[in-house]
Amino acid sequence: MKTIYSAPRGTNDILPEDYKIWQYIIDIAIENSEKFGFFRMQTPTFENIELFKRSVGDGTDIVQKEMFSFKDSKGRHLALRPEGTAAIVRATIQHGLLNSSLPLKIFYIMNFFRNERPQTGRYKEFYQFGVELFGAYSAIAEFEIISLAYSFLNELNVKDTNLNINSIGCQDCRKNYVYSLTKYFEKYKEKICENCKNRLYNNPLRLLDCKEKQCEEFKLNAPNILNYVCADCKTHFNTLCNFLNLNNIPYSVNPYIVRGLDYYTKTVFEFVTNNLGAQNAICGGGRYDDLIQKLGAPSTPAVGFGVGLNRLILLLKNKIKINYKIPHIYVGATDEEALYKASVIATNLRARNIITQTDLMSRSVKSQMKYANRIKAMFSCIIGKNELTKNSVNVKSMSGEENFNISIQNFAEEFERILKN
Ligand SMILES: [Zn+2]
Ligand SMILES: [Zn+2]
Repeated sequence: MKTIYSAPRGTNDILPEDYKIWQYIIDIAIENSEKFGFFRMQTPTFENIELFKRSVGDGTDIVQKEMFSFKDSKGRHLALRPEGTAAIVRATIQHGLLNSSLPLKIFYIMNFFRNERPQTGRYKEFYQFGVELFGAYSAIAEFEIISLAYSFLNELNVKDTNLNINSIGCQDCRKNYVYSLTKYFEKYKEKICENCKNRLYNNPLRLLDCKEKQCEEFKLNAPNILNYVCADCKTHFNTLCNFLNLNNIPYSVNPYIVRGLDYYTKTVFEFVTNNLGAQNAICGGGRYDDLIQKLGAPSTPAVGFGVGLNRLILLLKNKIKINYKIPHIYVGATDEEALYKASVIATNLRARNIITQTDLMSRSVKSQMKYANRIKAMFSCIIGKNELTKNSVNVKSMSGEENFNISIQNFAEEFERILKN
């Protein structure tokens, strides 16, 4: 019986007090994306499961273990979206957005679903702010989105973040690397963790990504991908470094950053923080030049990133001072007739964008004043029989310093004039 009244394990309610912080962060995400010329879009919560198998990759943990999938009554196999890129790419192809003038710059703020073991800041339903930039082969595209993420995190004043970048090569040069990596780890097959044993043949790059202690020492001496990438990939990587250097965006080259998805080519990057324990990546992304062709459209280069908003909220929760929108005025009433008048005044005030609250509880005057204090109203007034007869009402500032007599007839207009002075 009890379980009906609690949210499913691994999910998270966002209560009004927390939502102010969400709103604040979302506003900054929107503002920064628009500053870089990105436009927002949204896709459905579920897609055909095949989309994620083809794009994220059959061998990935996401597709093998973490997706919420189901069949509808017609037997169609669907899945709740586990990440953003696949769905955004599907939509841009379906609606022909890649046929118009490039680059196409998209951002999204959406919820995603993965059936993972819940941890601090990690939920089965989680939110990401992400961007995708289509059409640019040059490393300035990576620079542009890294610069956007950097600007976003800076504006939020997220401290102690480091940008880690790496190249995982292209289809050509990665083959050699994966071969060497597999050969290397085969020697330690009996000593690596169970997950890594599977990765060895399903998704060998992810061997570098393992957080288990027992695998740590083998990672240290593993072949370094940057020694394997082809001339084209190397130049691309160096160009990105030049852009970052020139624009004073600090970074470290980290050959262990691989990202867990099949579609990345060349650049991958993460913004990591030391403040969240093991779950340290707050933003991750990279280049995925082959994905669009793989999904059946003409080959188009692309880059993108995703920022986990739940973790960001955890980091910032007690550090952000929000200027709450406080109600400008509380308009109380002593009886039903006065309340009718108060409702008209409230309607007129709100039409002038003045935040107004009125008595919804038929409370005593004393309780109404208590309430006006609790909601931090700037001004208050109480309309009663006397006020209706005189056709005017006394408006006080809650600090007690100011006092105005305002006509009930022209209340909104006169009050607005006072607010402006
Ligand atoms: Zn290459
Ligand atoms: Zn491992």
